[in-house]
Amino acid sequence: MSELAICAWQKLELGTVITQPGNAAQLRTGDWKTLRPETDTEKCIKCGMCSIYCPEFCISENEEGYYPADLFYCKGCGICANECPKQAISMVMD
Ligand code: SF4
Ligand code: SF4
Repeated sequence: MSELAICAWQKLELGTVITQPGNAAQLRTGDWKTLRPETDTEKCIKCGMCSIYCPEFCISENEEGYYPADLFYCKGCGICANECPKQAISMVMD
C-alpha cells in the first residue's frame, strides 16, 4: 500500500462532510476490481437484465443494443454474470 493511501485519511473533512455535491461520480470505483465482465455478443439476447441487477448502475445500452459495463465504475462483483439468463457474461482477469 502506498504512503499516499495510508495518509489519505488525514485529508478527510471532519465529520466526512460532503463539500462538493455529486463528486462521487469522479471516484473511479472500478479501480479496485480484479475481475471484469466480458459479454459474448453471440449469446446476448439484449434483454437488459444485467443492467437492472448491477449495484453500480454502470451497465447501459449502447447504440447496437448490447449492454457493456462502464469499467470506470464496475467493481467486478460478478452479479451481472450471475443474473444473465443466457450466461453471456464471463468474468475475466482485469
Ligand atoms: S443479461 Fe445477458 S443476455 Fe441480457 S443483456 Fe445482459 S448480457 Fe445480454
Ligand atoms: S461486475 Fe458488478 S459492478 Fe461490474 S458491471 Fe457486473 S454487476 Fe456491475
